[in-house]
This record gives sequence, structure tokens and C-alpha cells, in this order.
Amino acid sequence: MEEKTVVILGVTGSIGTQTVDVIGKIPGFKIVGISFGKNGTVAQGILNKFQVRYYLGDVELNNGTRFECTKELLEKTLPDIVVSAVPGFDGVRATLDAMQYTKRLALATKEAMVCAGPFVKQLARENGVEIVPVDSEHSAIFQMYESNVDHIVITASGGAVRDVPLDKMNNLSPEEILKHPTWNMGKRITIDSATMVNKLFEVVEAHELFDLPYEKIDVRINPSSFVHGIVFLKDGTIKIHAGKPDMRVPIAYALTYPSRQYESYVSSVEEFDTCLLPIEKERYPLFFYGLGVVSARDKGELVRRIAFNSADEVAVEYFLERKISFGGIYQTIRTVVEKIDSEFSTVSNIEDVFNIDMLSRRYANEFLKKLTDN
Ligand code: MG
Repeated sequence: MEEKTVVILGVTGSIGTQTVDVIGKIPGFKIVGISFGKNGTVAQGILNKFQVRYYLGDVELNNGTRFECTKELLEKTLPDIVVSAVPGFDGVRATLDAMQYTKRLALATKEAMVCAGPFVKQLARENGVEIVPVDSEHSAIFQMYESNVDHIVITASGGAVRDVPLDKMNNLSPEEILKHPTWNMGKRITIDSATMVNKLFEVVEAHELFDLPYEKIDVRINPSSFVHGIVFLKDGTIKIHAGKPDMRVPIAYALTYPSRQYESYVSSVEEFDTCLLPIEKERYPLFFYGLGVVSARDKGELVRRIAFNSADEVAVEYFLERKISFGGIYQTIRTVVEKIDSEFSTVSNIEDVFNIDMLSRRYANEFLKKLTDN
């Protein structure tokens, strides 16, 4: 079997390092390029261990050839698979760039679908790129999807605030929220799990990936995170995808699809918890506000999605630095989304995506500055 070549964008993050881990355990894959930000130590370790020749990063490494931008790295390597795992809005440009140079996009950066879904999909069609989701819920749905789907359910853990008394919610500290009950992830996504902004983005991601209208995508809390997704078929069949929460499993699937090569922990029936709870409106107001904002059927949907993401990124940063309360995240997002929505009617091209993001960040920073000055 010929080796498949892989470039990992965002290699030092949570998904990136777990991808490296998976590739170390299954034969047939060769890492030909990596990109990273400031974490030169971890990147150097990966470069050495896997003898990676090409890289892109803020830090100069020993050995290997350094490139200045994602496009150059991909043009040189032309990999069979790009794992797109750059966290946050930075991952949008990286993902769009990847669409020109690979056959398969293993997509972990959900911001690419949230902020630029229609453009990513258009490039995939034009260039014949297969998109395989890495996000656990979407991987689950992807594995079960077929022609006669009626609707789907994706699950949430409920984050660290699931069992906190409602009147204590506003004053939770970053440390309290960073204790995620089931998944071990990066900081922003852990905060986004507590507000359920992450789940909102996953609903959008599912809407884009599976071309399903929003009313056909439901969300339930599964406290153990064992159930990842459910597909309801028109003939009455219900398919459930479950397994111990471990991102290496969907990462491996995105690499080896349509076959399976990865071996991992096999659960027992005792661990398999199918409890599904509704989402409480009072506990996750941002989720419900966001759902209204994205599912309103007008041309501004994508405008609001971009603004929502940018404002969330900025506000979460403020929260992590203890400059605002947990509840301040909601205030910021709502203010920015409403302001941007009144200024832009639609997203006409890719450059609009970046302009709206930049302006949303400016508005978020202005609002937060005023909020913290008082
Ligand atoms: Mg997920």
C-alpha cells in the first residue's frame, strides 16, 4: 500500500497533537508538513520524531524548511490529506487555502463552516475535495448518513456549568469553567462548551455539511458524552453512534475513511449511557439566542454567524483574563451581532468574510473597553 501524505495545520493544538498520536499508531500515513503558532518546543519534537521536512510557524526550528504562508507549504507538499485544526478564525483562511492543494480535507476547525461554509463547499465542489469531519458529533452523523434521513440529533455534555445552581452562573471563575466533565480540550472550546456556543457552532456545521435545514437538527445533553449523534431515517429506523469520548477515534476515521484501521478502548455495556436531556433555556441563553440569529431566513445569516464568532473569541479572551464576568460574554456577543447586522445585509465574497470579522472584533473590543472602564 502506498503511503498517504498528510499536512497538519495547527499541529501543536489539542486536535493537532492527537492527530500526530494517531498517525504514530497506524501504518500508511506520512506527515510531510506541519503548521503551528508559537509553540516551537512541541513543534520541534514532532518535526524530529516524524522527520517532517516542511513547516510554517512563528518560531524557527532546527532542521526542516520553513515557509512563509499556508499556500506555499501546501503548494510544495501537495498532500493527500490536510488536517485543518487551526483553532478559531485563523483557521478559516488556512482551510480556504487548503482547498486548492489536497484531495481530502479532514476538518476540525468548525469556524471554517460557521464563517465561510458556502465558500468552503463551493471550493470543494470545484476542486473535487472530499470533506470528512473530525468533530466527534459530525463524524458520527457522517458515518451513519444515507439517502433517506429525516432529521438528526447531536449531543452535548453541558460543559462545566451543567449542574451549577442557576443563580451562581454569572459569577463563575475561569478555573471553575475550565474543569470540563468529559472532554479534554483547548481553553476557548471549553468555555464555549459551558456557554454552549460550541454546540451552536456545531449545529451550523451540521447544517452546512449535511445540507439540512435548522429545524431538522436537534440537540440533547448526554451527560457521559458516550452518545455522539443520532440519525432518524424516514423508514422509522433510528441509528445511534456511541463510544467513549476520545477525539483520536474520529481523527483516525477522517484519515482512514472509508476503511477503519485504528484500535482503541472497547467499552462495555455498563458504560453505555443513553440518557438524553433537553437543553435548559435559562442555563444556556447564548445557545438559544444564537439559534434564533442563525436560523432566521434572510440573507444576513452568514453576516451574523461571522459576527457571533468574532465577538465570542474576543469576549472569551477577556473572560479568561478575568476582565469580565461569565455573563459578560453574552452581552458582548449580542451587542456586536446586532450592530453588524444593521450595517451589512449579506456576504458577497470571501473578502467580505474577513472584513466583517475585522470590524466585529473592533466593535467587541470597543464595547468591552467601555464595559471594563466602568
Ligand atoms: Mg464536538
